[in-house]
Amino acid sequence: MNTPWGFEDFDAHEDLHFVWNEECGLKAIIAVHSTHLGPAAGGCRFWHYADPAQGLTDALRLSRGMSYKNAMAGLPLGGGKAVIIADENRTKTPEMLHCFGRAVDHLCGRYVTAEDVGMSVADMIEIRRQTPFVAGLPVEGGDVGGDPGPHTSLGVFLGLKAAVRRALGKDSVNGLHIALQGAGSVATGVAVHAAAEGARLSIADVDAAKAQKLADATGGKVVSTEEILGIEADVLSPCALGAILDEQTIAALRVPVVAGGANNQLAEKEDGQRLHERGILYAPDYVINAGGIINVCTEYLRDGDASLVRKRIEGIPDRLEQIWAESAQSGRDPASVADAMAQRLIGRG
Ligand code: NAD
Repeated sequence: MNTPWGFEDFDAHEDLHFVWNEECGLKAIIAVHSTHLGPAAGGCRFWHYADPAQGLTDALRLSRGMSYKNAMAGLPLGGGKAVIIADENRTKTPEMLHCFGRAVDHLCGRYVTAEDVGMSVADMIEIRRQTPFVAGLPVEGGDVGGDPGPHTSLGVFLGLKAAVRRALGKDSVNGLHIALQGAGSVATGVAVHAAAEGARLSIADVDAAKAQKLADATGGKVVSTEEILGIEADVLSPCALGAILDEQTIAALRVPVVAGGANNQLAEKEDGQRLHERGILYAPDYVINAGGIINVCTEYLRDGDASLVRKRIEGIPDRLEQIWAESAQSGRDPASVADAMAQRLIGRG
């Protein structure tokens, strides 16, 4: 990793922008990690952090992840990410979104925004009033656009099945027990696909009502957020927030497969090796969760239709297979193998 500022998470970002507007209360960070392959594309997260410095770390780590994700998905996009630091009440106003849109616009297309945690299609419409450098808008004219969540879910589910095939030798998740962390947009799609194929689900969300609603819709069972990472299951699918796999949680895992949509699941680089040493097959997050950005990219560049989006998403299991095969051959853990591949693709290998 390249750390010109002596700050590991900075990892040679091309530029970093802090936005503050007292009038509307916008406090945002826009991180541009790499434009080597094209405009830096990555969603905007709206989240309350106990300490704003955590928001900066999040933006930097998510932005690097987007460079790797876009490169590994074969997209002509660089990587960037924005974080809007919400207050305790998570107050979000149109003025705030317009102000964020103007900040994106000032970058003249170096950064393209879209939805992430806490942001909706309606929010993208507000941002679009101030800048054209936004995707994840309602479908218009063609048949590509809208919420990237369902596309992410499809890619995660296909990647999860590939992991099950490799680790458990099964072609279907029928009868398998999947522990799902989160009951939001991505988790919901994964749960619906898995339940339709006959999987048994355990679901946890900090918002218990959301977990219950998803459990009711999929015949799943709600478990507590404390329980979910230690539950005995065939697959753990982390679909909430990042940094949930660390030395302690990995030691407590009772699953042969970790395959989920959350970004930055590993708290630190060594955690990839820790999973590998425990014989747990890990699907690198930015490879398995590329379905949403594939849709966003096709919408933004207007270079294909829904069937092309589907075809591109169906390529996710092959990329995972490539990583696992190289991991098996070299003895290196899949997360490190994926990082090395991605770094080569963005010219930093
Ligand atoms: P979302 O806001 O719809 O859902 C996230 C859910 O996680 C919420 O219901 C929240 O209450 C829950 N949560 C937060 N902390 C939790 C915890 N400790 N334990 C259990 N649940 C917790 O967001 P989403 O769009 O579903 O995204 C989920 C993850 O997938 C994020 O890491 C996001 O960055 C990643 N991701 C999303 C997309 C996309 O297209 N939406 C694409 C790629 C990656």
